[in-house]
Amino acid sequence: MTYDEIKQLYQNHIMPTYARSEAAFARGEGCTLYDADGKAYIDLASGIGVSSVGHAHPKWVEAVCGQAARLAHVSNLFHTLPDALLAKRLTGIAGMKNVFFSNSGAEANEGAIKLARKYSRDKYGGGRDVIITLLQSFHGRTVTTLAATGQKKFHDHFFPFTEGFAHVPANDVKALENALNRSTSAAKSVGNLALMPEQPQAGVCAVMVECVQGEGGVLPMDAEYLKAVQKLCEERDVLFICDEVQTGIGRCGAWFSYQRAGLKPDVATFAKGVAGGLPLGGFMANEKCSKVLTPGTHGSTFGANPICCQAGLASLDIISEVLPQVDAKGKLVADLLSGAKGVKSVRGMGLMLGIVTGGVNSAEVVKEALKQGVVCLTAGPDVVRLLPPLVISGEQLTEGVEIIKGAIGALYDKEA
Ligand code: PLP
Repeated sequence: MTYDEIKQLYQNHIMPTYARSEAAFARGEGCTLYDADGKAYIDLASGIGVSSVGHAHPKWVEAVCGQAARLAHVSNLFHTLPDALLAKRLTGIAGMKNVFFSNSGAEANEGAIKLARKYSRDKYGGGRDVIITLLQSFHGRTVTTLAATGQKKFHDHFFPFTEGFAHVPANDVKALENALNRSTSAAKSVGNLALMPEQPQAGVCAVMVECVQGEGGVLPMDAEYLKAVQKLCEERDVLFICDEVQTGIGRCGAWFSYQRAGLKPDVATFAKGVAGGLPLGGFMANEKCSKVLTPGTHGSTFGANPICCQAGLASLDIISEVLPQVDAKGKLVADLLSGAKGVKSVRGMGLMLGIVTGGVNSAEVVKEALKQGVVCLTAGPDVVRLLPPLVISGEQLTEGVEIIKGAIGALYDKEA
């Protein structure tokens, strides 16, 4: 089928929730995607940070096909080997005690929120239910993770939300300290961002952060700030949760971005890149939080699916080979764009990068790059986001970035 025919099917039968780009992809090989009409594209987006091992990696394909031929699903009422092995591997690289597997990032964060509230209830009784998150954060699209998300634009249309979320400005230790000192379960800041009602102390059970805010604009948090957050949490027995859905699994040059700041969160969530393109996510807990969720308190029919977990094992093998080069590839991108026309700066960590454009609309850049055979993303109106597969070669990365650089320069000239 041609692109036009596929597009017609979408218009007729798929809900219009996405502003999709003008391409229908039919297959991928390594870091190259091919559309329905046979045109090749350099993939600098990885399906929003998912296809970290590229497309159709032979080891990944073998793992997925092998497991599909053995056992696709049996439910969490039984034991299977792939999830047990992946759990051992993930908790080992994360420095965590155990894991719960979900299907997506939002579901992972929902689970972490449940764990935090139960931890607090078990230990302190009620009234300590608030989760503090940061302005500009993004934690998912379910009603609860939208409440956790500190961006007003995501809240429109969907009130009322789950109660017990409050948002504070990022990189502001004093604001967090004040919020921790003031809030209770009565705090409701959805629609009233950054405003914490005056309340007596002891209502917060957790603080959840992204070490680099992805959807918020590829905004790295200061390492000193993150350390201060952890310390404030420790002092109050408030759980410190790192949302590693976008930053994790090697994306930022370490297995988890919190490791780069020398942090030890109580809970870390992950999804996106963990299974190289199949739906898998989860949350890991340290020793202190490892026994909070007990039989009957949490579950997921598809969570820990054997094919996804086998894909996860293969993905971690592949990523471990390229992880030491992630930072150098990120620096290559920054060097290529340094001083380029229309580029203000390049920020981010590892291969999670935001090109801040000086007055050029990022959506226009993405559109133009696509026309010229490069897939990239936005993170707000003036940030072009790159999340290339971690396995990409320096040559292919350079080729793709040069095209984006040209597109930004041309648009800059046009608008000047
Ligand atoms: N948390 C972060 C930091 C994310 O970037 C995302 C998705 O972009 C999510 C959570 C939600 O993940 P999912 O779309 O898999 O539910």
